[in-house]
Order: sequence, then structure tokens, then C-alpha cells
Amino acid sequence: MAALLEVGGLTVRFGGVAALSGIDLAVREGELLGVIGPNGAGKSTLFDCLTRRCGPQEGSMRLAGEDLTRLPAHLVADRGIARTFQNTALFPGLSVRENVMTGAHRHGRAGFWAAALGRATAEERRLRAGADALLDRFGLADYADHPAGGLPYGLTKWAEIARALASEPRLLLLDEPASGLAPGEVPALAHLISQIHRERGVTIIVVEHHMDFVLALCRRIVCLERGRKIADGPAGAVRQDPAVTAACMGVIR
Ligand code: ADP
Ligand code: MG
Repeated sequence: MAALLEVGGLTVRFGGVAALSGIDLAVREGELLGVIGPNGAGKSTLFDCLTRRCGPQEGSMRLAGEDLTRLPAHLVADRGIARTFQNTALFPGLSVRENVMTGAHRHGRAGFWAAALGRATAEERRLRAGADALLDRFGLADYADHPAGGLPYGLTKWAEIARALASEPRLLLLDEPASGLAPGEVPALAHLISQIHRERGVTIIVVEHHMDFVLALCRRIVCLERGRKIADGPAGAVRQDPAVTAACMGVIR
């Protein structure tokens, strides 16, 4: 199958530090790819670059054949890339439903912000219904009207994924969705992501330190270390690769 995402020679530097060095990566449409690696390996920078929050200084990125390399961030979102953040980034003062609705803004000029200004429209009602369906799906319906700032930490991770999905992305980037969760919450999150992937056919790249979580979800894993790709292949083989074990010692659980 053709690659949805094609990255070639991607290089991102911060001053003298190369956060990513010559990364080549192809992700098939509908794939669920795991990315692992120690702290500072460049995993979040890869997501920052794909969403054009930074660089690259060199290399190229294409989504469904379209060059994203110089596109401004808001247009990348428009092309169908959505993400969550390692440290969750909900609007604390908005309700959980409103947060999810902000994710859908790429689907209409009126959308969320018109609604926030008091111009409720049929469009706003549609966005609201879509948000409520997602909240239901994520077991967050009871929290729809609560300020996101008051959510228990575990639920903020779920709400962030719901917000990202509200944009109906083609490519969903999840940055450490299981970090900070209680051990008992991790399998449920893996199950939910797996179901969403199956039901929607959305292509997903997930960065995670929980090896059990990655193995439960992903057939293919990429390992980064100091900005370079040191492994890329079937999950079982990458897990047992001595270079991966050495790089991730003490980090991957
Ligand atoms: P990971 O997510 O794998 O832990 P990051 O992508 O966050 O790693 O970081 C990779 C490297 O790039 C680290 O050395 C980090 O300090 C550096 N880095 C990331 N973002 C910035 C930034 N905005 N400014 C300067 N250095 C950065
Ligand atoms: Mg990171």
C-alpha cells in the first residue's frame, strides 16, 4: 500500500544540538506505528516537526504526496494531522466539551469560535453533537460540562485524544499518551486506541515508554536515539535488538 506519510532526511537543529539527524520514515495508510527511545532521542521533536511547530532545516515531509515541509502549522492541521502533547495542553478554563469542540474547528469557519461569541448556529449544534459522541465513546460524558482544569489527570489524557480526533485527522500523533497514568489505567487506554484505530481506519504514530503498551498496539516499532533512527521493523524484532535494549535501558518499562 502507498505511504500516507513520507519523511526523507529530516534534520532539526536547536543551536548546536541536532534533535533529529537525517530521519527517513514511511508510514502506510491505516498503520499504527510505535516510536520508542530514551529521553532526548527526538521523539517529540519529530511530532513538532510534522506539525510544523519547528524546522526542519533539512529534509522533506509529504502527506498523501503533498509537500508539508514549508507549510505553516495551521495548514498542516488543515491537511489532516492532529496530535496530543506529552504534557497535556487542554484549555483549563473551558469545559471538557468545549475543549473537544476546539479540535473540530478546521471543519468550518463558524465553528467553535463563533459559538464562543454567542452566535450559535446549526454548525455549532453539529460540532456539539460530534463532541458529545466522542465524549461518550471515551467515557467522559459525565464530565462534559466540567472545566477541563479540574479533570483527574488520567482523564485529561483521554480528553486530549478525543479533542485530536474531533478534527477527523488522517494522521494522529500521540505523544506519550500513557505517561503519568496509574498502571491499572494503561491497558484500558491501549484497548481504546486500538478500537479507535480499527473503527476509523486512522493512521496513528504513538510515542511511548511503556513497552507492554507499545507491544499491545503496534506491529511495527521505530527506535530513535540521539536524533537518529537506530531500528525500524517488526515489534518483536525491534524489542530484542541489542542496540535498542542498550539505548533504552532504564527508560523503557
Ligand atoms: P524526546 O521527546 O525523545 O524525549 P525531544 O524531542 O523532546 O526528545 O528532544 C530532543 C533534543 O532536542 C533534546 O536534546 C532536547 O533538549 C532538544 N530540544 C527539543 N526541543 C527544543 C527546543 N525547543 N529548544 C532547544 N532544544 C530543544
Ligand atoms: Mg518527548
